[in-house]
Amino acid sequence: MSAEPPATPDTSPVPPETKDWTVVIDQGCGECGFRPGYDVATTGRRTRDTVDRWTAVLDVLGMTDRPGPGTWSPLEYACHVRDLCRVFRERLRLMLEEDDPVFPDWDQNAVAVEEQYNLQDPYEVSGELAQELRATADAFDAVSGSQWARTGRRGDGKEFTVASFAAYFLHDVEHHLRVDARG
Ligand SMILES: [Zn+2]
Repeated sequence: MSAEPPATPDTSPVPPETKDWTVVIDQGCGECGFRPGYDVATTGRRTRDTVDRWTAVLDVLGMTDRPGPGTWSPLEYACHVRDLCRVFRERLRLMLEEDDPVFPDWDQNAVAVEEQYNLQDPYEVSGELAQELRATADAFDAVSGSQWARTGRRGDGKEFTVASFAAYFLHDVEHHLRVDARG
């Protein structure tokens, strides 16, 4: 690893996402090639498969450069996916242990600003991200049988099963890697 972040990475807020990404669960995603109806039992393996590519993203010059106004840098996406793993693992635990829980809210844009994602140490982020991806892969690997049909809801009322939640999570990780943070 030889990359040094530039002196003044942009840490200003980016506009919040307005698209409803839950449509990719049923319709897939034309931007990244995610296909609907994949075998959810492969969620853990596919999540684990992204670790090396995420590590590569954080080992290049320009990882803190934003490709355009209002778009996160590769480092910011990596921080986002690291924290996404933590949040989604907790939501998965809730679905498995409680009946139809409502997930605690998570404002990803507010967290990105508060935690100054673009000023974080890329080497530490790389290690943390790999650890979080593997832990979340393990959590999905441990799901079996009727557990895939258990339910939970977001604060905005959007309903998930463990299976649709797995698809939503996996798409997020793969989409950010393929479309947003290519190293
Ligand atoms: Zn996508």
